[in-house]
Amino acid sequence: MNMTTIASNMQAVRDAIDVAARAAGRDPREVTLLAVSKTFPADDLRAAYATGQRCFAENYVQEGTGKIAALKDLQIEWHFIGPIQSNKTRPIAENFSWAHSIERLKVAERLSAQRPESLPPLQVCIEVNISGEASKSGVAPNEVGALAQTVAALPRLKLRGLMAIPQPDSNPAQQHAAFAQLRQLQEQLVDAGLPLDTLSMGMSHDFPAAIAEGATMVRIGTAIFGARNYGGNA
Ligand SMILES: *Cc1c(COP(=O)(O)O)cnc(C)c1O
Repeated sequence: MNMTTIASNMQAVRDAIDVAARAAGRDPREVTLLAVSKTFPADDLRAAYATGQRCFAENYVQEGTGKIAALKDLQIEWHFIGPIQSNKTRPIAENFSWAHSIERLKVAERLSAQRPESLPPLQVCIEVNISGEASKSGVAPNEVGALAQTVAALPRLKLRGLMAIPQPDSNPAQQHAAFAQLRQLQEQLVDAGLPLDTLSMGMSHDFPAAIAEGATMVRIGTAIFGARNYGGNA
């Protein structure tokens, strides 16, 4: 996509985040925009970066580490948001600042063990399955508490909060209900003594509802970079 289009998309998304935050009585600065750049070439990330964007999110280890290498000259904060296989933890621990998709203790333990001492702790979120059987990824809500307590004790990870990818739903009431469920789970963990500050929720089609329900990080791809073509040059 050309630079001008990416720049105007970035502005439109930032404006929409502002509107949604103010409508909810929130300070827009409480909401961090992650530009989800999976399948898009490094030059598209440079175009977004040129507008001031600093946080980028990738879903695939090999593709993500390739872009990290290609964009070493920029001050980017890299977020990993895809499913994490336990044999792929090392490049995530070595290259990313955040991992949003922790759903198993074994993966968390490996990330902690493999996080280089030269880097700050890896910032992590636990992914929760708030859509029941409709979704394959994420921890069941009734298992989040136990996993969160264990992950929070790992030395080289810093547990920041929860993440979810609700089932796509065009009905705003359903969108709100799913995001409210994640916020309530987070509140229970905070009440149980975990110092969590991050709710990673909201994508191109539902981020206003997520912001209304307390999202602190929204993960937006399509609205910035356009539709993805998985058959193409990803
Ligand atoms: C691809 C992806 C996004 C971005 O989705 P869009 O609908 O393109 O905004 C957000 N979160 C996760 C986990 C993703 O895989």
